Amino acid sequence: MKRVYLFAEGNKSMINLLGGKGGNLAEMKKIGLPIPEGIIISTEACKEYYGNGELLSEELKNEVLEQINKLEEMTGKKFEGEKPLLVSVRSGAPVSMPGMMDTILNLGMNDKTAENMVKIFENENFVYDLYFRFIQMFSEIVMGVEKELFFELRKKLKGRVSNQELINRAKIMYWEETGKFFPESAKEQLFMAINSIFKSWENERAKVYRRINRIDDSMGTAVVVQEMVFGNLNEKSGTGVAFTRNPSTGEKHVFGEYLLKAQGEDIVAGIRTPEPIDRLKEELPSVYEEFLKIADILEKHNKDMQDIEFTIEDGKLFLLQTRNGKRSPYAAIKIAVDMVKEGLLTKEEAIMKVDPAVLPQLLHGNFEPAALKNATLLGKGLAGSAGVAIGRVVFASERVHTKEMTILVREETSPEDIKGISLAQGIVTVKGGATSHGAVVARGMGKCCVTGCGDIKIDDIRREMTINGYTVKEGEFISISGYTGEIYLGKVGLTKPQFDDNLKEFVSWCKEIKRLGIRMNADTVTDAQLGKGFGAEGIGLCRTEHMFFQKDKIWTIRGMILSHDTDEVARALEKMHQLQREDFYNIFKVVENDVVIVRLLDPPLHEFLPKEQKDKEKMAEILGVSLEEIERRVRNLKDENPMLGHRGCRLAVTRPELYNVQARAIIEAGIQCKREGLDVKPEIMIPLIIGAKELLFIKKNLIAEIEKVFEEQGMRIDYKLGTMMETPRACLLADEIGAEVDFFSFGTNDLTQTTMGLSRDDSVKFMPEYYENGILKVEPFATIDERGVGKLVKLAVELGRKNPHIEMGVCGEHGGDPKSIEFFEQVGLDYVSCSPFRVLVAIVAAAQSHI
Ligand code: PEP
Ligand code: MG
Repeated sequence: MKRVYLFAEGNKSMINLLGGKGGNLAEMKKIGLPIPEGIIISTEACKEYYGNGELLSEELKNEVLEQINKLEEMTGKKFEGEKPLLVSVRSGAPVSMPGMMDTILNLGMNDKTAENMVKIFENENFVYDLYFRFIQMFSEIVMGVEKELFFELRKKLKGRVSNQELINRAKIMYWEETGKFFPESAKEQLFMAINSIFKSWENERAKVYRRINRIDDSMGTAVVVQEMVFGNLNEKSGTGVAFTRNPSTGEKHVFGEYLLKAQGEDIVAGIRTPEPIDRLKEELPSVYEEFLKIADILEKHNKDMQDIEFTIEDGKLFLLQTRNGKRSPYAAIKIAVDMVKEGLLTKEEAIMKVDPAVLPQLLHGNFEPAALKNATLLGKGLAGSAGVAIGRVVFASERVHTKEMTILVREETSPEDIKGISLAQGIVTVKGGATSHGAVVARGMGKCCVTGCGDIKIDDIRREMTINGYTVKEGEFISISGYTGEIYLGKVGLTKPQFDDNLKEFVSWCKEIKRLGIRMNADTVTDAQLGKGFGAEGIGLCRTEHMFFQKDKIWTIRGMILSHDTDEVARALEKMHQLQREDFYNIFKVVENDVVIVRLLDPPLHEFLPKEQKDKEKMAEILGVSLEEIERRVRNLKDENPMLGHRGCRLAVTRPELYNVQARAIIEAGIQCKREGLDVKPEIMIPLIIGAKELLFIKKNLIAEIEKVFEEQGMRIDYKLGTMMETPRACLLADEIGAEVDFFSFGTNDLTQTTMGLSRDDSVKFMPEYYENGILKVEPFATIDERGVGKLVKLAVELGRKNPHIEMGVCGEHGGDPKSIEFFEQVGLDYVSCSPFRVLVAIVAAAQSHI
């Protein structure tokens, strides 16, 4: 097995082996760009390291030394030589994990090297600054010594002792903190560094990042060892990070920052506030021009917006890294559309570049101009990541919780904040530019972020911040705009979602390409209008029990459930009939000629029974019976295990009149629409079925009622009758059931619940430990459990297709989840149905899974 590669031996197709950083550096070398030379230790070597019980094998060490010899030949420099070789040692996984793992700069430094470098550069302060930084970074990353200790030491001694003495004192501190002598040998330093970079693959923040981003834990990281170039050498040196297009707006203009006389991490660490890249045009014009040319070459070569790290040493430009840049959802769409228009990408390639999961962010709109006029502007930072967010201020990541809408406000974010960032609605930082860690991570997650708002002063002890004369305490609401960088007091009203021309065009391409139909889950006219606007092709699930959640309608269904004698029942039924007929009519009108699947009542009874005393009293009054009587009826109806109790079609077996009246309302509304010239297509769906006999019992009743309506109305309409597939038994007997219906719709929420035996309401309490311990990789109520639940879906599809006319779809939450949609495409469903805000996600994911 070959473990260590020269840059010249690699290319971009070897990213799994060489990591993203290594593969891209090798590729840049291949196309002749200015890259400092280096070697790459492969991800296979990392896997071997873990296989060996976290030890570097002798074979690996020998290969590293062999390749270092070649590096020395190529550069004309030598470890500890007269012309000393210094290197950076950096991690580079196959998937970009910004800031999650470690980097060590200036490795190879020792007393002899420092002396030799002083002779070459004739600048003692510069050389000893490198030396000090090296000891500090090495101590922190390899040995876990707090870097603050070194900052303090330097602050205390700088200018008071000689450079050499400062280094001695740093080494003493290393010894005091670690109980070991600082390693003088460059080779020993290198092996220790490689060891710690491999180890950093398993550090806590890297693990959390991988879990959130669903990155495979087993791929391991490569290590890039690269000749150092010095951005801190003189006034004509510097370091920077730039994107080939604006990662927030997508505008085609290089966007980024640099710092003169600075080294590597200074810029991303957000410690000094950098200059915008356009200023480089004035400060180092020829470097700027060269950078623009290279940015263009890299973008065209990689066919994507690039995020480039560079260093300038004494007026000469070097590239240290390029990768596909993380971007806001807004920018992602604009860049994809622009690149097709520029002829750089085909439509299919452009579609594959957009992560559908971040699209809902685009639909959350902006602040309402009128609300903004009256809002109190607290201050302004930089627009770090597009979008707007409203939430309660929280100053520490560990205090951000899922239950509350929060805005995380931090001096600067560090990779430790990853969990807080992922849970908060938005992020504000006091320090750091638009390429600082917080902005990069937020953009990747599609979160709104404001960076570099220097007017904020955080008081961690009092848990409050002051900003331009205002004091905001933790827990108070603020509103932030990642478009403008503005921060407002309180909650600012939001506009309706924006659906701009780029997005429209992009979605139209996805629609041309996809196979799966995309429907929406909608139970109100507002939802239906919204989903239709986003491109839904009809309604795949109208939950009729939800129609009673609005206004006072709840009393109708409560009355229905709690009615006993025939008169009470008749009255309640008639009320329900009228309400439903009107609701269906209104929804049919919105959806016009598209399909509407109406799911007959599936109320977990406990959600509808009156609980509070005053509600029970009101119910007694409505039904004209005593309070005691109501209490007795509520007691009788109480299920011990409501989700598996008297719900779904069990209700229609015990009380057929309920479904009959709904079917009547659907058909009457349909006939009314048809009389008005609409070609309505109502489809009636029965929930929670467990077998064909149960289905037939209900179907017979429904058909009899529907025929009665046709007769009364003197008119017929086309309708379909189908069932949800939500229990394992239904899936196992799907051929028998399929023979009796026109369609199946997999209710994967219940199917997951019933197959896994996990409560959809309670499992959040105990599932985190399942992910942490690697028992489950993903949340099964969000992404379909392909191996288990998916197996049932696949079987049911095969069995169901024995009826050649059957149509099949899914309407559980999974219908809006990209990964699950890929699975539904594979098993050959006809459509997916999801909430209106996820319709766009589904359209894009459906196109991607068909490409
Ligand atoms: C389901 O179970 O997947 C479903 C869509 O029905 P509900 O969520 O209403 O139970
Ligand atoms: Mg269900």
